[in-house]
Amino acid sequence: MTTTLKTDLTIADIVNGFAYNELEGKGLFGWSGKLVIQPEYQRNYIYADGKRDVAVVDSLLKGYPIGLIYFVKTAEGKYEVLDGQQRITSVGRFVTDKFPYTGADGRERNFTSLPADQKDLLLKTPLTIYICEGKEGEIKEWFKTINIAGVPLNEQELLNAIYSGPFVTKAKEEFSNSMKPTLQKWKAYVRGNEKRQEILREALSWVSKGDIDGYMAKHRFDADIAELKTYFSTVIDWAGTVFKGMEDEMCGLEWGRLYETYHANAYDPVAVWARVKELYADEFVRNRRGIFEYILGGEKDTRLLEIRCFDKKETKAVYAKQTAAAQKKGVSNCPLCAIGHEANAKRIWKFDEMDADHVAAWSKGGATDISNCQMLCKTHNRAKGNR
Ligand SMILES: [Zn+2]
Repeated sequence: MTTTLKTDLTIADIVNGFAYNELEGKGLFGWSGKLVIQPEYQRNYIYADGKRDVAVVDSLLKGYPIGLIYFVKTAEGKYEVLDGQQRITSVGRFVTDKFPYTGADGRERNFTSLPADQKDLLLKTPLTIYICEGKEGEIKEWFKTINIAGVPLNEQELLNAIYSGPFVTKAKEEFSNSMKPTLQKWKAYVRGNEKRQEILREALSWVSKGDIDGYMAKHRFDADIAELKTYFSTVIDWAGTVFKGMEDEMCGLEWGRLYETYHANAYDPVAVWARVKELYADEFVRNRRGIFEYILGGEKDTRLLEIRCFDKKETKAVYAKQTAAAQKKGVSNCPLCAIGHEANAKRIWKFDEMDADHVAAWSKGGATDISNCQMLCKTHNRAKGNR
């Protein structure tokens, strides 16, 4: 499909020969008979509520542009409105006196009774029109994505339009095809709607290490998508090999990045999955999505798991007990300050000057209940690090 920009038409050209079917609520023809305003696949005219059609006229009379319009070239000198039908129909109906406009002076006027300069302003408004040419199926698919029901193009759909060519066509066949038998498997790992190009987006993001735009520009005229396909299936296969089972949280992980970071490491899939199960059962793990990278990285970075912290009630209780005991002994209520020789050795910290700490780190088997909680001054808590 190709698109050509056309900027030499005005409202006057388009509404010339405007015909409207009141019964069906359809704008029929315009542009001296060259334009079919409402093709089969269009929504019915829904601006005729006296508000939105007036709003179109109002903005034109204020000198604002009417927005992008798309036509499809159906034959030599024949066009259909792909997008912009509602706006064109509003203007066409106004120019043919089907509804009045209330000016700043509060008076209702038909188009015919508008002052000449206002008529002129409206009729001479230039239009920005894209003319699309291509197969009907392609065009309908395009139409579905450009503006239907007010859903704007998402980023990938825009990129597909910008870099349209053999590469995008092939890539869509592979990754946007709802009939694809492997799609269900992919969707266990990749979140998104294939019809909105979200699977394709992920595949491109993986192979390009995030530079989708650059990758599409470089490969725009490639006749095959071998690299894209192979890389995607390599990542998915790797994920399926390391993690034998399937959990909901595995969907939408950054598998491309995980593959790049960890695929050179050797794992024992049976042990890995047993560990996944253990961590799923651990009530202190708040972020299950982090389990997978935690294991891949050799169980070092507990931040990935967002281990449950002590709650305020627990910490207040520990603070009170710890402070009472410290005051009795005449030492700091931060046990680490108390064993130091610095100025803080006898300091009683306020509650909000302290943080809760796991006496035994969670990663070393320590529980997240009050028996494993101590309050430390903020400096010592930060210094203790790995929990
Ligand atoms: Zn301290």
